[in-house]
Amino acid sequence: MKLTPISTPLSVRFGLTISTLIVLLNFIPVPEFWITLANYVGLYSLVALGLVLLTGVTGMTSFGQAAFVGLGAYASAYLSTTWGISPWLGLLAGIVITVITAYALGWITLGLSGHFLPLCTIAWGISLFYLFGNMDYLGKFDGITAIPPINFLGIDLASGRDNFVLIWFFVVWCTVALHHLLNSRTGRVFKALKGGVLMAESCGVETMKYKLLAFVLAAVLASMSGWLYAHLQRAVNPTAFNLTAGIGYLIMAVIGGVGYLGGAVVGAVLITLLNNWLQNILPTLLGQSGNYEVIVSGVLLIVLLQKSPQGVWYWVEHVINPLLPQWIVNSRSLSSTTSRLLKGEREEFARLSQRSITKQDRVVLKVVGAHKSFGGLKAVNGLSFEVHASRIVGLIGPNGAGKSTLFNLISGVLPVSSGRIEFLGQEVQKLPARLRSKLGMGRTFQHVRLIGQMTVLDNVLIGAHLRARSSWLGAIFRTNQKEESALREIGYSCLRDVGLEEVAHQNANTLSLGQQRLLEIARALASDPILLLLDEPAAGLRHFEKEELQVTLKRLSEDQGISILIVEHDMDFVMGLVDELVVMDFGNQIASGDPAKVRENPLVIEAYLGGIE
Ligand code: ADP
Ligand code: MG
Repeated sequence: MKLTPISTPLSVRFGLTISTLIVLLNFIPVPEFWITLANYVGLYSLVALGLVLLTGVTGMTSFGQAAFVGLGAYASAYLSTTWGISPWLGLLAGIVITVITAYALGWITLGLSGHFLPLCTIAWGISLFYLFGNMDYLGKFDGITAIPPINFLGIDLASGRDNFVLIWFFVVWCTVALHHLLNSRTGRVFKALKGGVLMAESCGVETMKYKLLAFVLAAVLASMSGWLYAHLQRAVNPTAFNLTAGIGYLIMAVIGGVGYLGGAVVGAVLITLLNNWLQNILPTLLGQSGNYEVIVSGVLLIVLLQKSPQGVWYWVEHVINPLLPQWIVNSRSLSSTTSRLLKGEREEFARLSQRSITKQDRVVLKVVGAHKSFGGLKAVNGLSFEVHASRIVGLIGPNGAGKSTLFNLISGVLPVSSGRIEFLGQEVQKLPARLRSKLGMGRTFQHVRLIGQMTVLDNVLIGAHLRARSSWLGAIFRTNQKEESALREIGYSCLRDVGLEEVAHQNANTLSLGQQRLLEIARALASDPILLLLDEPAAGLRHFEKEELQVTLKRLSEDQGISILIVEHDMDFVMGLVDELVVMDFGNQIASGDPAKVRENPLVIEAYLGGIE
């Protein structure tokens, strides 16, 4: 049996079916007004899709998407009215301008954390609005009129119905493309960004690059919506692209369910229908006209978010999923144990699964006089030791001894105050964590950092990021399929190494703490590490789980030749496992060497074992 691709062709078939339905709908004599509403829903959906990617998946909030809609709209409006250039070239120009603008804005703002990023999006949302409104050749606040319709194969798409087909073609195609993107190497990184950059960087991911990519893609979706809007309306002015519109798009995405692609469309439908309905009904109810729908929809928004913070799509999935035939629901959870890769996939697998081999007895890690001070506190005070190939070294010491700090110096999370860290003979103390991972350091975190909403397998595959190459374009156009199949095989084999293969398709948040720690190890293994850095992997494990972990770690070092540096607290756990010990106390190295001898060392007994022994 061939492996079922994670992103099934089901989504493509689904997309084609919907597209066909939409085109057919066009010939059904529904009132023209419905078509108008559906067109707007489509335009809004495109922008909201971008927000699902940006806000829902990668966790970056933007209030400024309307400005990108404006860029797409104005670019084509200006070129087609002033220079008589085809709207299709206008689309291209709009996308190019949007990419450049979004790239520049993103480059400046995406490094900001917390509430600074949303504030910046408001700022440039307002700036672009005034830019449109103050430029003479863009018609100032009156905008541009007499925009020609889009011409497709000689046909002018002049009516609402003509535009309907085009708009919904864009919506469906973009939804399917995004679906494929999210289930790819790139998509896994996008999802990992939500868990903070530390974990992703330690898996070798250049997080800034991927943040920028998500930002630019979301902007391009907005820009395409603007292009369609300009040629549907045949007129543009800045009002449609102001901050209120930007907030409106975010509300749609949030109401629909910002974590789901389907949520974008549902949110756009709900808000459009609701506004329309309220505009009709409220003046009658209240006996006077005014923008009351804004107030009422605001209140409804608050109520809805109180009741369902995940958005409406969350409920749609929960209602629909049980009704679907089991094979659809389960199509993603077929186990791979019986899988046989196809020919091309096998070659891909062979390429990807090549291991880094280190010679026996080679010094893998060398720490020379490492110091780290936090203000006046010397957390690490002149540590020196070596880790040889396929050996297990334990780093122990009482709480607060400086173990985690040293660990972070080695893995590149913290810079050393002084001293050297050599990895495979190369000085690495100045390299960022990402590049150390690339050289062959894999690590786990004392407080597990997994993406709970992702499957166990996908979490592992974040670790395999640097092994693969396919890009976001490959994901969208599905040229990544061989590599994905091969990657999944690698993921399964790493899960097998730690005994988690059975739960590969469960979400990571369904695992026990012990399993989550194992999953962190599997993720580190997926990067094909030469040195595995484990920070208190046994903390919180039950006795038998600790024993299993010991067996697993021994096997990794003996069978696979992986060197392991393990930070631990539990003396018994370490004693039965390591080849060498380094003992720390108050930042100082008080003993190192053979575990049995270290255990006899009076300094160690006093500092660490005294009470216990
Ligand atoms: P261990 O992992 O051995 O329990 P840590 O390395 O976490 O110890 O901490 C060693 C010492 O450094 C502790 O006194 C801790 O309070 C201090 N410390 C750790 N990280 C920081 C930091 N980022 N800023 C200031 N002090 C820190
Ligand atoms: Mg610690």
